[in-house]
Amino acid sequence: MRLVFLGTGTSVGVPMIGCGCAVCTSADPRNRRRRTSAYLQGGGVSLVVDTAPDFRDQVLTFGVPRVDAVLFTHSHADHIFGFDDIRRFNLMQGGLIPAYASAETVADLKRVFNYVITEPPSAGRYRPRTEFRVIAGPWRMGGLEIEPLDVVHGHTRTLGFLFREGNRTLGYVPDCSEMPPATLERLRGADVMVLDALREKPHPTHLTVADSVALLERIGARKSYMVHMNHEVDHAGLEASLPDRIRAAYDGLTLEWREGFPEPLARSPKSVSAPPTSFAPDP
Ligand SMILES: [Zn+2]
Ligand SMILES: [Zn+2]
Ligand SMILES: [Zn+2]
Repeated sequence: MRLVFLGTGTSVGVPMIGCGCAVCTSADPRNRRRRTSAYLQGGGVSLVVDTAPDFRDQVLTFGVPRVDAVLFTHSHADHIFGFDDIRRFNLMQGGLIPAYASAETVADLKRVFNYVITEPPSAGRYRPRTEFRVIAGPWRMGGLEIEPLDVVHGHTRTLGFLFREGNRTLGYVPDCSEMPPATLERLRGADVMVLDALREKPHPTHLTVADSVALLERIGARKSYMVHMNHEVDHAGLEASLPDRIRAAYDGLTLEWREGFPEPLARSPKSVSAPPTSFAPDP
């Protein structure tokens, strides 16, 4: 499996429009955070988890050679607004690209991207070709098993995902204020855990850095990475404050599982190559 962090920032991104703070004006590229989303290659399948408003820029910057499916955690704007740009993958690959989400998120996607489902094919095919699929439980694509997990995100619920390829596992929960015990149990002992850590101060819909550390300690992944940080979080400062097994992710960071253990690779934009594909996408 290989995971590319396409974006690691909160909904407004970092730098934030109109802000001149030390992080927003930082020269450290790890303090430039596009909206949170990820690219996962495993089991012969290439997936995008959430299509952020920055999706096009993320694809051009970090290299996303193929998209077999899109998974959505929830329908907040920072996780869905780049969806229209999967058109290019439709044209390059041929065929439709399924989008998987909860029933509630599928309803929102059908409303926000209404033209995708209402426009007849004869009206022109330069729109996303997709099929919205409601996630009803764990499912499999190629050699990748995907388990949806219930997550509390303020007054709404989101999906987290547990990905498994053989004995290699990844937990991915980008927006979270509280983790139900059953979800925590499923994630316990994952190889890699990716979790929300918005900022130091409390927030009604996100975990603080301290909350995130406490939860990550309980999950006990071999390596953990924080995402969805805002402009109050300086990358180097945060990393210096964290235990070794917990790191702050940054845009373009790529993790690769080698001999059952994930090793972070150096930041290497456009280094992602097409996987050997054993997954037959829908016609
Ligand atoms: Zn978000
Ligand atoms: Zn700022
Ligand atoms: Zn959200």
